[in-house]
Amino acid sequence: MRYISTRGQAPALNFEDVLLAGLASDGGLYVPENLPRFTVEEIASWAGLPYHELAFRVMRPFVAGSIADADFKKILEETYGVFEHNAVAPLRQLNGNEWVLELFHGPTLAFKDFALQLLGRLLDHVLAKRGERVVIMGATSGDTGSAAIEGCKACDNVDIFIMHPHNRVSEVQRRQMTTILGDNIHNIAIEGNFDDCQEMVKASFADQGFLKGTRLVAVNSINWARIMAQIVYYFHAALQLGAPARSIAFSVPTGNFGDIFAGYLARNMGLPVSQLIVATNRNDILHRFMSGNQYVKETLHATLSPSMDIMVSSNFERLLFDLHGRNGAAIASLMDSFKQGGGFSVDEDRWTEVRKLFDSLAVNDEQTCETITEVYRECGELLDPHTAIGVRAARECRRSLATPMVVLGTAHPVKFPEAVVKAGIDAVPALPAHLTDLFQREERCTVLANDLKTVQQFVAAHGNRGKPL
Ligand SMILES: *Cc1c(COP(=O)(O)O)cnc(C)c1O
Repeated sequence: MRYISTRGQAPALNFEDVLLAGLASDGGLYVPENLPRFTVEEIASWAGLPYHELAFRVMRPFVAGSIADADFKKILEETYGVFEHNAVAPLRQLNGNEWVLELFHGPTLAFKDFALQLLGRLLDHVLAKRGERVVIMGATSGDTGSAAIEGCKACDNVDIFIMHPHNRVSEVQRRQMTTILGDNIHNIAIEGNFDDCQEMVKASFADQGFLKGTRLVAVNSINWARIMAQIVYYFHAALQLGAPARSIAFSVPTGNFGDIFAGYLARNMGLPVSQLIVATNRNDILHRFMSGNQYVKETLHATLSPSMDIMVSSNFERLLFDLHGRNGAAIASLMDSFKQGGGFSVDEDRWTEVRKLFDSLAVNDEQTCETITEVYRECGELLDPHTAIGVRAARECRRSLATPMVVLGTAHPVKFPEAVVKAGIDAVPALPAHLTDLFQREERCTVLANDLKTVQQFVAAHGNRGKPL
């Protein structure tokens, strides 16, 4: 499989190089040159497969030519073997034909484990084969950091540096990162905010001289392998509810448009998906596009669903690329005008096309809490605030009651107790068994000034299993 850039100028790469690449050299994002398409008979034959075997069938075409079948099977079995629930991604029924796909039974209790557990293992496999080591640098406001660290902790050939804003992540989220101990794991608390952390990661990618030749790898959702891993659970859920003999609708709590883009790809690969609902919080750039054809940057608001607090959605560019007939030059010019003026619209017929599949809703904090309370009263299911936004949007935007509606349950409620308390529910969720001693565990973290040179010197001094590069 070859991958091409959404801006048309960067060289095409194979899977192995895309895994290590991050952004394309022309500033675009990599997408498969040709999406695989499965027949109805093929998809139907996968019903009842264990998760890792389904994953093998769905993802095999994407890694073809780079990872041998036997190796890939073994990697997938290990990856999804660490999930706490035997079903890996169980479906729970809330209401008539309304379901939550629980994607929070991985090590860090959010859906990001599905992709990052796989990414760490794929990286290590490819690096061992090449005899190379890499450094990962990432910025996190919570979920990504812990999932990335958990995914890389067993990697022999990866050192990971995750920056979080000092004193600005919740205690659970901090401890999920800082209590994973290993000489290749480096938590940095920056005396600044999340954007400061993000800027330092970007600056480090732009000028990698401080790494003395070691390659820097991205683990944010622009990495193709993350999107690829997320396609699988759309198939998994749909097969359990009667696909491909019937269509399924999905509602997806959305920030960077990564998770929902995977659903769009699942549909283009042959899964009958009749509706995709973009569910956002008050940071609603995607809702404003879907409802009014305006993709315009606005100021950032802190909400009860912090993992969806974004101003722009990086993966949206991948959808725009398809929408413009995969014309890289058109995307480069759209993105240019966005950078200069802070916004754009697309041609009316393209927007109408996208609206055939996508609906959207923006949900504020008050409505989020209302929905948590409502669902808890109805059926005793305690939702995290991100999932609650998905349920709210599903209920308001649903096109057909006869079509099963699956809401992606993106996080466990224990990660966001503030929202549960605000919703007036006293049943404080308990930590799952593998995390009950989280508050007693040893923490390891270095506090650094909000200064690029200081951070880069730290990385250079510790980037080889704690030793200098
Ligand atoms: C990351 C995250 C999201 C948003 O996912 P995107 O792929 O950025 O749209 C939603 N909910 C939770 C809990 C997350 O951690």
